[in-house]
Amino acid sequence: MVAEPIIRVRGVEKSYGEGKARQSVLRSVSLDVAAGEMVAIVGQSGSGKSTLLNIIGGLDLADAGEVFVEGRDYAQLDDAALSRLRNEQIGFVFQQFHLLDHLTVVENVALPSFFAGGRGGAEARALEALGRVGLRELGDRRPSSLSGGQKQRVAIARALFHRPRILLCDEPTGNLDSETGRDVVGFFQSLNRDEGVTMLIVTHEERVSQAAQRVVRIADGKIVAQEGRSVELPPSGAASVRTDEGPTP
Ligand code: ADP
Ligand code: MG
Repeated sequence: MVAEPIIRVRGVEKSYGEGKARQSVLRSVSLDVAAGEMVAIVGQSGSGKSTLLNIIGGLDLADAGEVFVEGRDYAQLDDAALSRLRNEQIGFVFQQFHLLDHLTVVENVALPSFFAGGRGGAEARALEALGRVGLRELGDRRPSSLSGGQKQRVAIARALFHRPRILLCDEPTGNLDSETGRDVVGFFQSLNRDEGVTMLIVTHEERVSQAAQRVVRIADGKIVAQEGRSVELPPSGAASVRTDEGPTP
């Protein structure tokens, strides 16, 4: 059997503005991402990459079309269920790290526990997440005292707090120097390879897209090309690929 994709987008449409100012930002976008894939989304500024990522992450709503994550249809989820799915199954990493400077590093990483309700063990889990990005010792610092690369690693630790199966990253290396960016990309690759985290990364940088198994190019709100090793997923119900090569004389 071909596994159901962990992310399934069908015919998504999105516009902003009203009347003459109305602008179509996504036009019938369809995309499947298999569990364990690392996919880059590339395209010019304003082409709709962030909008697509935000819709997949449940941060923004499509005007039309379908979004399934982990087999769950966003249109069928109420706000509470969507929040839970987003908080527990999906991690977000942004170009601007979005850390809160009135909190310590460890408190920033533990933030998802507030939305999940209940703080039991949150600090220990946050320290564990910080350990995964090599910053356990900096838990008591304020984000403002960290370098850009350290800030992004704190943001990644926060994204990993609930051990999500999916990580959505919007220009994650956009504010980093090239060496730090390389470290972050290497960390993403190890998360993907060693832990099977499904990665969807919006990026301008070739170095980042080269690390992905598949590159999806978007222009003017449409997917215009896909390149990479990954095979096209057949439509549901299609015959599965045989992996055994038994003789059929
Ligand atoms: P990208 O990430 O590829 O640069 P975006 O998805 O951010 O592109 O934006 C695509 C288009 O949608 C842009 O023209 C942008 O100005 C517009 N847009 C994005 N978000 C909003 C919004 N909240 N309100 C109005 N227009 C928006
Ligand atoms: Mg963007």
